[in-house]
Amino acid sequence: MRLEGKVAIITGGASGIGHATVQKFIREGAKVLVADIDLERAEKVVAEVEADGHAGSAAAAQVDVSVYSQVEAVVQRAVDVFGKLDVIFNNAGIAGGKPLLEHDPAVDYEPMIRVDQDGVYYGILAAGRQFRKQGTGGVIISTSSIYGEQAAELAFTYSAAKAAVISFTRSAAYELAEYGIRAVAITPGRVGTPIINQFSEELRSTFASEQLRNKLTEPSEIADVVAFLASDEANVINGTVVHVDDGYSVF
Ligand code: NAD
Repeated sequence: MRLEGKVAIITGGASGIGHATVQKFIREGAKVLVADIDLERAEKVVAEVEADGHAGSAAAAQVDVSVYSQVEAVVQRAVDVFGKLDVIFNNAGIAGGKPLLEHDPAVDYEPMIRVDQDGVYYGILAAGRQFRKQGTGGVIISTSSIYGEQAAELAFTYSAAKAAVISFTRSAAYELAEYGIRAVAITPGRVGTPIINQFSEELRSTFASEQLRNKLTEPSEIADVVAFLASDEANVINGTVVHVDDGYSVF
């Protein structure tokens, strides 16, 4: 098992990519704090893990990643429950967008920057401090997007936040290497989660056609890559972007 003995926090762990990653990490032997703004769904994920025969391997915590004190508290919670922290997957996010000139900054800019950008910064900061304190090193994986590397329709704010995630990852790898900390960003393409499933069948099929296998990516396929990146087998992958977009970026 790739993650035997590791302790991880997965933000946005109650749904979609985060949920699939909780399941994968548990199968790979990790202990996981399922951290989400939706505590009820996070608790359901933990109950599912327990029903699968892994009682004691997962715990739920409520966190709004856009509030630093809450992110710090969730890092402390992982340490209190499981004794230490080895991995943080900064994955919680919100999507959506309008044409730029129709923006109300208070609605269409600030909230998304707070969750998708500040939330990742806070996760890097709080986990980085914990890793330094432990003296054990650690791994920081953060979810960007294909939109973090390109201009995209109706995604002015989202793209900016996701580009920041890539920049944070490079700088974190550079600055934190002396503490044995690694940082990697992933850029999913079109993944079949509630963010995408809210759209019409027609739009979902257009999204699928933008990827080389002509299908939406399964959340579990992203989770497989994240588990590898979190493991010691990926020790040479640092400060970079791993494209998990089924070839979207070749177009
Ligand atoms: P999802 O909606 O299924 O999951 C997102 C989770 O984040 C939810 O459980 C939600 O409750 C949680 N969350 C939202 N705001 C939060 C906050 N302030 N604090 C804590 N938790 C919060 O979506 P998903 O598709 O699994 O998205 C996961 C990540 O992947 C996001 O960062 C998203 O931008 C990114 N992404 C998704 C796709 C895709 O096609 N689905 C593509 C590229 C990037």
